[in-house]
Amino acid sequence: MTAGVYLHIPFCKSRCSYCDFATDVYRESGAVERYVDALCSEIRSSKFEVRRPADTVYFGGGTPSLLSPMQLERILAAVNESFDIEGDAEITLEMNPATVTAETLAAYRAADVNRASFGVQTFNDRDLKLLARGHDANDARTTFRMLREADFSNISFDLIIGLPGQKLDDWKRNLDEALTLDPEHLSLYILEVHEATPLAEQIRSGRRPVPDEEIAAEMYEHLLERIEGTEFEQYEISNFAKPGFASRHNTKYWRLEPVFGFGVSAHSFDGASRYWNLRDTNEYVAAIEHERSAVAGRDDLSYEKLAGERAFLGLRLTSGISLTEYAKATGIDLREKYAADLERLGDAGLIEFAGDKLRLTRRGMLFSNEVFSVFA
Ligand code: SF4
Repeated sequence: MTAGVYLHIPFCKSRCSYCDFATDVYRESGAVERYVDALCSEIRSSKFEVRRPADTVYFGGGTPSLLSPMQLERILAAVNESFDIEGDAEITLEMNPATVTAETLAAYRAADVNRASFGVQTFNDRDLKLLARGHDANDARTTFRMLREADFSNISFDLIIGLPGQKLDDWKRNLDEALTLDPEHLSLYILEVHEATPLAEQIRSGRRPVPDEEIAAEMYEHLLERIEGTEFEQYEISNFAKPGFASRHNTKYWRLEPVFGFGVSAHSFDGASRYWNLRDTNEYVAAIEHERSAVAGRDDLSYEKLAGERAFLGLRLTSGISLTEYAKATGIDLREKYAADLERLGDAGLIEFAGDKLRLTRRGMLFSNEVFSVFA
């Protein structure tokens, strides 16, 4: 099966108040260069006997747009040594506002990057400050214009909802501005407050209100209503695209297709096992430099676990799961095995059958964890 390749770039200009990803504040270019050396070595050492076909490459982070074009080209050259990258591959780079210039964008395009995953989050300057994003709304507008001028014709906006104090009207204005700018793809995130972050501390100490889950649900429902009649189609719980612009890379995760991850904290799935790298950048670089494996853990998935994952990941897609294809892949008749649970979830209005398909309802998308727990 054609694989995807994920590359983790852990550096950011500063740390956002809600972030608990494996990131490091960008200190000096020497540290980045050393990391890129380690990343290229890890990719090269993974060589399969025959270069494995791949049709997506995804630079995630962190802030991959802090890479110089030369660093990005070096990494892609290493990827090309271990993988047979198809000519029409989707090559995505996550970018944050105010981290690129017209020159770097032109060089990324020349290096075949053809999709920008753009971390807008919100066009509200008060909320950008609360999130400590290190840019303002104008930076996002300017960078978006530069992306278009550099011939990026596949741009996705990351947007966030459920912020402390955020009102439904704030979100409506945000969404209007996002749709007016007219990207090809939208990804929506509901803020999660992680324990050890500055934002969690601000909420604990009462300096910020507790995010309101009900308002977040209203925001989500508003988005579903607002995109009706536009070119956008929802294809996954949190993802919306114009025709032909669904993320090919992310769809691999939901379809349980192999994705090989490289870099600190990167996760891989080879079709049977999941494994993941060390979470600390210094430890990762030291392991690679000393020719040790950077893998920190592995889960060899049992047959039952794989079948369960195939169900709940597939249900994230609005197209749902084909019962026939599922039975072919797993030998399991979902209707029979989960008869009682499916009846209960159907009665609660969370799932529905449409011909051969089992899928979430709109309500089911809001309470998807309740559905997924049946298969987990
Ligand atoms: S830009 Fe993203 S990865 Fe970097 S600190 Fe902010 S939230 Fe975390």
